Formats: sequence, C-alpha cells, structure tokens
Amino acid sequence: MNRIGKLYFRYGTMGSAKTALLLTTAYNFEERGVAHLCFKPITDTRENSNVIRSRIGIERECMWIKAESNMYEIVEEIIATGGTRPEWILIDEAQFLTVDQVDQLARVVDDFGCNVICYGLRTDFKTHLFEGSRRLFEIADSIDEIKSTCSCGRKTIVNARIDGRGNIVTEGEQVEIGGNDRYVSVCRKCWTNRQIESGDRWKLPL
Ligand SMILES: [Zn+2]
Repeated sequence: MNRIGKLYFRYGTMGSAKTALLLTTAYNFEERGVAHLCFKPITDTRENSNVIRSRIGIERECMWIKAESNMYEIVEEIIATGGTRPEWILIDEAQFLTVDQVDQLARVVDDFGCNVICYGLRTDFKTHLFEGSRRLFEIADSIDEIKSTCSCGRKTIVNARIDGRGNIVTEGEQVEIGGNDRYVSVCRKCWTNRQIESGDRWKLPL
C-alpha cells in the first residue's frame, strides 16, 4: 500500500518559536533515525551560510530554496540518488515560497508519501497574506496556529514593522532586505491604534 503523507502549515507571528519548533522536531527525527530534510527559502543572497537559526540560539544546516527552485524535482533527485525517501520534510520561512513551490510540495506529499511541514508567517507588516502562506491555507491538509502573546496580553496577530523612533510603520515593500527596520509581534488592537500597550506581564524593549 502506498504511504499517505500530509502537507502541514504551522503559522504564527514572529517570535512565536516556529523555528525553534522546527529545529526541535528535526533533532528528534535525527535521534530516532527518521529520514528527513530541512529547507529554507533564501530571500537575502548576501547570507553566506545555509543554516536555520532560532532566536533562542540553536541552529542547523539546511538546503536553500531559490525563487526558481522546483521542489518536486529537488526531492525526486534526492530520492533517486540517495535511495531513501525522506519521511519528513521541514521548511522554515514558508511564507516566502512561491505558489508553484507550494503546489510542487503538495505533489511531493501525494506522489512520494512524504510528510511536509511548512512553518511560516501568516501575514506581512501590512496584515496581508504572503504568497506562500495564501497557497498553504488553500491546499494544506492540516493547519495549526502557533500562538504567542502581545505585550498587552492579547494574542499576537500582526508582525508590526517598527522604525528607528519606535513607531509602527505601514508603508514600504513587503520584504525589506538589509533595512534597519525591525519587527514586533502585536495584537490587532495595538496595531489598529498604532500604539503598543504595556500589560502587567511584559515590558516592550523599545
Ligand atoms: Zn496588544
């Protein structure tokens, strides 16, 4: 009988430990000898090391996905040359996948019986879906939210872009490479008011 895989989308805001979860999952597979692969779309070609790195200080090597990469052909080639079929494929920053790449991953699931877990952001700093995330919402078998908390105590929804003066900005390119802006995950209310409330639990490090 053919193995049946699944396409998973696990989304959350920045700082919701998506990458840490990916790395923990990969570590567990390694410990148990489960065949797996790790990938990450490359948006900044100035990066010189192909690693997935979590804010909490752990990292591991991964394969890069370029804008023109065909995920189906890459996995097919790995199976043909290595002889083993990866049981699990883990993808970091999946919001940066193209529609075609998500469709190719879906075919990897359906044709090869691999399980593919895509970790990524739901929306950009303007609250609009990323291309890869939109396609994953449309065709993934299983969708989970990785939740985290705004400094006011509500659930984070928006990856707010913060300028040098600490203000929330709403204009600009979806992906800013090499800019000085940074991001803070906030709830919808704080984003709508352009004002990050401080709750009892957290102090925002502005
Ligand atoms: Zn808030």
